[in-house]
Amino acid sequence: MQPDRPESWDGRIFLSFDLDWAPDAVIAATVDLVEEAGVAATWFVTHDTPILRRLRANLRFELGIHPNFLPLLMQGNGANGGSAGEVVDRLLEIVPEAKSVRSHSLVQSCRLSDLFRSRGLTHEANNFIPEADGTVLQPWLDTSGMIRIPYGWQDNFWCSPGPASGAISLAPRPGLRGYTFHPVHIFLNTEDMSRYEAARPDFRDPSALAGHRNAAVPGVADMLERVLDLASPEAVAARFKVA
Ligand SMILES: [Zn+2]
Repeated sequence: MQPDRPESWDGRIFLSFDLDWAPDAVIAATVDLVEEAGVAATWFVTHDTPILRRLRANLRFELGIHPNFLPLLMQGNGANGGSAGEVVDRLLEIVPEAKSVRSHSLVQSCRLSDLFRSRGLTHEANNFIPEADGTVLQPWLDTSGMIRIPYGWQDNFWCSPGPASGAISLAPRPGLRGYTFHPVHIFLNTEDMSRYEAARPDFRDPSALAGHRNAAVPGVADMLERVLDLASPEAVAARFKVA
């Protein structure tokens, strides 16, 4: 995606998934859906795990990194601790081919963008602009040299009360169309964040987690299927780093 080449983003759909430390079996359920649709997607990686091999084997997929700066902001010193540079470098050891990045909880600053650029990353997707706002989205080149990629829909915001949080317009619209999902919300078919909170004790146990699945009302998995239906016949799904 290049800002000055509208054909690389205008009217295209960008599907991305933040792994958020989900177990492989939970991630695999999402990969199955995306591979069945045969569309391109970007996967933001949080940890080293065998399923990365499966993601890398699909040439439609791109792997980016999903650094967690929250322990730094909270002055913590856990497994994700250390300087921001250490957090990024640790993930780049796992995903050395990464060109794209989205921070966990969308943590961003001009210092972080400079850091990303210095490590060879080129595309940053840390700007959520609610689709219902009606803003026509397009990428831009910021002063750090990073290409910034806004997106208009994210699963956990859809599941939360708040202005514009529930909108998902699948009608063709001008500009860049970006959607962000999390495997755990697809696995649970989350329709309300209270379901996710209630399932929290079983996050590491996929079979127990399956017992929390929503089958009653439309949820995140249903939303993904609608987006995939739109993305595949039009062949408009795209990755971040390649037009
Ligand atoms: Zn995250």
